[in-house]
Amino acid sequence: MKIIVVGAVAGGATVASQVRRVLPDAEIIVYEKSRDMSFANCGLPYYLGNIIESRNHLVQASAASFKEKKDISVKLYHEVTAVDTAAKTVTVLDHLTGQTSTDSYDKLILSPGGRAVRLPQLTDSDITFPVRTLEDTDIIEQHIEKKEVKNALIIGAGYISIEMIENLKNRGLNITLLHRSEQLLKTMDAQFLPHLTKLLTDHEIRLQLNDEVDTIDNGTVTFKSGLTGQYELIIEAVGITPNTEFLKNSSIELNDKGYIKTDHYFGTTAEDVYALGDAIETFYRHTGDRTTVALAWGAHRAASLIAEHLAGEKQAFQGLLGTNILRLFDHAIASVGISEAEVRNYDALQVTFDQYPTARYMPQSHPMHVSVYYRRDNRQILRACFFGKQGVDKRVDVIATAMMNNMTVDDLKDIEIAYAPPFSSPKDIINMIGYRAE
Ligand code: FAD
Repeated sequence: MKIIVVGAVAGGATVASQVRRVLPDAEIIVYEKSRDMSFANCGLPYYLGNIIESRNHLVQASAASFKEKKDISVKLYHEVTAVDTAAKTVTVLDHLTGQTSTDSYDKLILSPGGRAVRLPQLTDSDITFPVRTLEDTDIIEQHIEKKEVKNALIIGAGYISIEMIENLKNRGLNITLLHRSEQLLKTMDAQFLPHLTKLLTDHEIRLQLNDEVDTIDNGTVTFKSGLTGQYELIIEAVGITPNTEFLKNSSIELNDKGYIKTDHYFGTTAEDVYALGDAIETFYRHTGDRTTVALAWGAHRAASLIAEHLAGEKQAFQGLLGTNILRLFDHAIASVGISEAEVRNYDALQVTFDQYPTARYMPQSHPMHVSVYYRRDNRQILRACFFGKQGVDKRVDVIATAMMNNMTVDDLKDIEIAYAPPFSSPKDIINMIGYRAE
């Protein structure tokens, strides 16, 4: 069997490895349009923050090591520009030679990911960079060193912006966060906004909200509000768009935002074509609603299931919960489930409170903020969000486990949490959600 994979980073490299595990005799070719394969996207901000000391730690494999250890051919700088699902071929452009060729497949696996959305006002700016790839990261690192950057403007208020704030601040830069509205971090419940804003301002992050870049002249930015600022570095993190243009003339169906529609086996609408990662539309596990989630867990789960499917097992994907977490200085923010905006499609109730994650009398204990939405009719948990200093990761993972097992909000009272004063309370936050739910 000949398998072609498009994309060689999180989803692509993982699925190729998983396929090799279950199909030792398959011919596997991975096309990657850019310079690097199999690097740790999630670690890029921490490398720029000097938390990860060696760049080598970000690179998990090379084309040579894939060939040698797994007999997988990875062709870097090779972009798949078209797919013919009737002929079962892909068109490939070699960026090094400019040559175009055609390759055939028995099975095609697409993991082209997404790219950073670029603001038209900033396309000519030579101090503005996205943080998406190792190449971007190398350029930013060199720029910071060469220009001795002191002042950075971070545009956008998603998790990459928040991680870049922490890391560039730790590196000693003065940071301004620019966002076109007041709603920072859509994965977080809006009611926690004052806590997030305080955390940012306590760490001397300048907030410029309800504003946008109007023009840029060298390092001088004029904002739509009329304000101006001087920066040596601008990080642009205003969202991603799927890299699926090469599929537009194929029979592989995309949704109206360009995401590849997939079924419960990560099959696309074309026979023998699978897709995974940031570029796909899939579904929520607990509600069945269609969604897109640009996070690593789904790509890795899909990689295993696709490989097993190719090997003849028919284990269906159970869906995503969108479980996510991020650190900001000494705090963590996490959520799981449908978004707060999506909760509005349901007749939902909310339980919200603050509680110490450890026994209250323990030194250095700080209250955690909790918000949980659940359906009024069947008490199903739709979404939970946590904001605090300690134990946020544990609480969000417990709720995710409860949600995947269809526990109701009332069932949370019965979860027997491990208790000792440094870790929780005899009635832990998880139990209290159940007790406080109306
Ligand atoms: P990618 O890993 O982006 O790989 C897609 C690859 O396909 C790219 O290399 C691209 O060049 C290539 N490609 C695209 N089109 C073509 C084509 N036509 N031909 C050939 N090659 C093509 N997720 C988390 O869960 N937790 C985190 O903490 C986290 N932090 C992150 C931090 C940063 C800075 C970034 C950028 C992402 C982070 N993510 C995180 C998201 C996570 O990295 C992605 O969900 C994951 O990488 C998606 O895998 P993918 O294979 O879909 O896309």
